[in-house]
Amino acid sequence: MKNFINQLSVVLDPKYILITDEDKAPYLTDWRKRYTGKASAVLLPSNSSEVSNIVKLCAQNQISIVPQGGHTGFCGGATPDNSGNQVILNFKRMNQVREIDVANQTMTLEAGCILQTAQEKAAEQGFLFPLSLGAEGSCMIGGNLATNAGGTNVLRYGNARDLCLGLEVVTAKGEIWNGLKGLRKDNTGYDLRDLFVGSEGTLGIITAAVMKLYPLPISQWTTLVACESVSSSIALLNLFQRRATSLLTGFEMMTQESLELNEKHFPQMANPLQGKPPFTILIELSDHESENHVRQLLEVILEEAFESKLINDAVIASNLSQANAFWHMREHITLAQAEEGANLKHDITIPLSSLDSFIEETDALMRSQYPGVRIINFGHLGDGNLHYNIAPPPGVDAKIFNESYEKPIHELVYAQVERCNGSISAEHGVGQLKLDGLRAHKGEVAHDLMRALKRALDPQNILNPHKVVSI
Ligand SMILES: Cc1cc2nc3c(=O)[nH]c(=O)nc-3n(C[C@H](O)[C@H](O)[C@H](O)COP(=O)(O)OP(=O)(O)OC[C@H]3O[C@@H](n4cnc5c(N)ncnc54)[C@H](O)[C@@H]3O)c2cc1C
Repeated sequence: MKNFINQLSVVLDPKYILITDEDKAPYLTDWRKRYTGKASAVLLPSNSSEVSNIVKLCAQNQISIVPQGGHTGFCGGATPDNSGNQVILNFKRMNQVREIDVANQTMTLEAGCILQTAQEKAAEQGFLFPLSLGAEGSCMIGGNLATNAGGTNVLRYGNARDLCLGLEVVTAKGEIWNGLKGLRKDNTGYDLRDLFVGSEGTLGIITAAVMKLYPLPISQWTTLVACESVSSSIALLNLFQRRATSLLTGFEMMTQESLELNEKHFPQMANPLQGKPPFTILIELSDHESENHVRQLLEVILEEAFESKLINDAVIASNLSQANAFWHMREHITLAQAEEGANLKHDITIPLSSLDSFIEETDALMRSQYPGVRIINFGHLGDGNLHYNIAPPPGVDAKIFNESYEKPIHELVYAQVERCNGSISAEHGVGQLKLDGLRAHKGEVAHDLMRALKRALDPQNILNPHKVVSI
C-alpha cells in the first residue's frame, strides 16, 4: 500500500492525498451515520486528467475506488467498506461551472459543483436550474447524477436524468469519454449517458455534465391545504394537473405524524392550517407571465376543490418568506427524523392509482403488527414517491427497535410495494443498503443484465464494488 501511495504522489500533489486518520475521518461516515468504513487514502483531484491517472494506477494495482460527492446519499453508496484497502475519490476540488451556453440553454458543470451553486449561477443569467432537494447546500452534481436524484421539481421538470444532456466520464480503464454534447436529439446507437446516470459510481466516474436550463419563472404561488384522505389528495392532484397543467411545479404531502415530529424538534415550524389535518398538501404554481394570472388560477382551482369537498382548509403564502416557510416545513421533516434518532426508511414509488390502497393497508398492517410505531409518511406525492419511514414507539430505544424489527418491517413494506407494482427505491438509489433486496425486486433477467453490464464495463470490479450489484 505504501508503494501505491508513493505512485499516487506522482499523479496528484501529495497535499491532496489524505492518509492520516484525522484527515480521513470526515469522509468515512455517511450522512445518516449508518455506515462507517475505512480507506487507505482520500484523494482530492482537481481535474479530469488527474482522475484518469488515478484510475489507471488503481487498475494496475487492483485497488478499488469509492467516488464521493457531498456524501449526503441515504444508501451508503459513497462510504467505503471496512477492508481499509479502498480509496475515496472526493470531488470537492472539481467544483467549477465550466460554461453557461445562453443560446443553447445549458450549463456545463464539473462533478464537484455544489447543487445550490449551480442554481445560483444559472439564476444570475436569468435561468432556472430546476433540480432541487433538501441537501442542495452540500450535495454535488456528480452525486446527483450518479444517484439520478429527484427532489421537489420532478413533477414539472423531471429528475437528474431528464435534465442531463451530456457527460464526461472516466472509465474503469482510466480513459476519458468526452460526451459533453448539449444535444436534445442524438440517436447514434446505445445511450451511454443513460447508462452512467443512476449507476452510483459502479460503471464509470462522472467528471462533468451538460445540464438543461429553463427560463426563470416570474411568479410563484405556494399554498398549504388540508385533506382528509389519500384519495382526496390524489383527486386534488388530478384537478390541479387538469386545470394548471404545466404551471403545477410542486405537489408534496405531509401526514400529521410527520408534522408533529417537525414541531417537536423545530417548534417555529407550526402548521398554519387549523385542526391538525391528517394530510397537509403543499402546492406550488409557477408562471412566466403576469403575477395575477397564476394567483387567480390558484384561487379558482382552490374554490373548485372546496366545493367538491376535496379540501377543508387552505392558506396561500402572502409573500416569499411565507412561501419559503411552507417549503422549510416540508424539508425539515428529514432533519427532524435525524434529530429524533434512527428510523427505518423506505423511499418508494407507487402508481398513483394504487397509492390509496397502499397507504391504507400498509398503515393498518404496521399498526396491528407493531403497536405504537410512528409512521412518518411524507413525500413527493405528485410523483407517487413516498418516504414511508417508521420510527419506534415513543420511549423505545431506536437501536434496539431497529435491530429487532428492521428486517420484518422492510419485508412488510416491500411486499406491499410489490403488490402495488411499485419500486423499492424511488430516488435515493441502492448503494449498499438495498443491495440484497435488488435481485428479488428486479427479477432474474433484469438483475443478470445489470451484472453483465457491470462485468463488461468494470471487469476488475474496482469501481465502487458491492454497491448496487455484486458480480
Ligand atoms: C436533508 C436531505 C434531503 C434529501 N432530499 C433528497 C431528495 O429530495 N431527493 C433525492 O433524490 N435525494 C435526496 N437526498 C439524498 C441525497 O442528497 C442525494 O442522493 C444526492 O443526489 C447525493 O449527492 P451527493 O453529492 O451527496 O452524493 P454522495 O452521497 O457523495 O454519493 C452518492 C452516490 O453517487 C456516487 N458518486 C458520487 N459522485 C460521483 C461521481 N462524480 N461519479 C460517479 N459516482 C459518483 C457515490 O459513489 C455514491 O454511490 C437528501 C439527502 C439529505 C441529507
